[in-house]
Amino acid sequence: MDITDIRRQFPILERTMCDKPLVYLDNAATMQAPQRVLRAIEEAYTRRRANVHRGVHTLSQEATDAMEHSREVARAFLNATSIEEIIFTRGTTEGLNLVASSYGQLLDEGDEVIVTAMEHHSNIVPWQLLARRRGIVVKVVPIDAEGRLCLDAYKQLFTPRTRLVSVCHASNVLGTVNPVAEMAAIAHSHGAVICVDGAQGAPHTRIDVQALDCDFYALSSHKMYGPTGIGILYGRRELLEQMPPYQGGGEMIGHVSFAGTTWADLPYKFEAGTPDYVGAAAFASAVEFINEVGIDNIATHEHDLLVHATEQMLTIPGMRIFGTAPGKCGVISFLIGNAHHYDTGLFLDKMGFAVRTGHHCAQPLMDVLGIEGTVRASFGVYNTYDEVDSFIAALRRIAPILNQ
Ligand code: PMP
Repeated sequence: MDITDIRRQFPILERTMCDKPLVYLDNAATMQAPQRVLRAIEEAYTRRRANVHRGVHTLSQEATDAMEHSREVARAFLNATSIEEIIFTRGTTEGLNLVASSYGQLLDEGDEVIVTAMEHHSNIVPWQLLARRRGIVVKVVPIDAEGRLCLDAYKQLFTPRTRLVSVCHASNVLGTVNPVAEMAAIAHSHGAVICVDGAQGAPHTRIDVQALDCDFYALSSHKMYGPTGIGILYGRRELLEQMPPYQGGGEMIGHVSFAGTTWADLPYKFEAGTPDYVGAAAFASAVEFINEVGIDNIATHEHDLLVHATEQMLTIPGMRIFGTAPGKCGVISFLIGNAHHYDTGLFLDKMGFAVRTGHHCAQPLMDVLGIEGTVRASFGVYNTYDEVDSFIAALRRIAPILNQ
């Protein structure tokens, strides 16, 4: 893998911040987009801008073809059996809300949903809303000191009322990669379905929804070198067929009359309104970029950076790293001394490093860790050893001030 060549494809990496070269370490929040994705957006606006699915004219057909090509690219990326199982959404959050709202209508008062202590708010609040609407009960799998899910506790949470498990593939704070296939097998043995928040899984590891045997898998394009505002929800066909629509409007109908309305076939039943056909088309370019570089190469590179950075960071006085599970992905959450995460982030920004600070939309996890927030550095394929070394050097410089 030629990182210099890869970096050349990302124009934003040429920017400077406060007269220093930009070192972008906020990839878990949003990744940068390569030239081919930017070109795909420009091309869609300049050459193929027309509403999809309803037009007989050529422009509309070309826009439709680009969007449906992207659906097929997403299907292949996830190894879903058919394009009927690939729903375009605004992102992971909308995908999870779709499952909670629509599958949630098949649940009854007293039915139970299992989530985990390391979930992003996107995989907590939709279930809490469902609890208010339908009286379901939300149960939580605890984590151990390294940030791993307690699988024994998970098994204990099942009762005859357990209907659904919703778990992140990887934690955006701890980097922990959860044993989704094993969790799916356990859920299925209890007659429950499993929904996976793949926001931090899809960009870093090979996804095969059939091998994982998950029932839903949600992802966001902007965390995968793609455009913002678009994502995918994979859903097992039999379940999608049973589920009521999520939103009503154009595109999702078979026939509308005041006497009664029928729904479109899958996947359009879940795609009300004009979709983000520009984003959808450009998403295909992002997946093609990942496929060309190779997801296994990306995973290995990010793992090497993670190991190198972690080893070096642990030699810095006052350093505390949150999340040390074996096999974790390229996310390092940390605090130095008693310094506020925000101060550390501000220092780093002035030195050219883009890191994220705060609770990372995981306040219940912060409560478990007994902290308010962390500083988070997260890697993408374009990050280099040199960048990690300069990051470590910057941390060494500011640590004495932060440790005071
Ligand atoms: N889940 C996880 C684990 C995440 O990291 C994020 C994004 N930070 C989300 C869900 C939500 O993704 P989006 O904002 O793209 O919908």
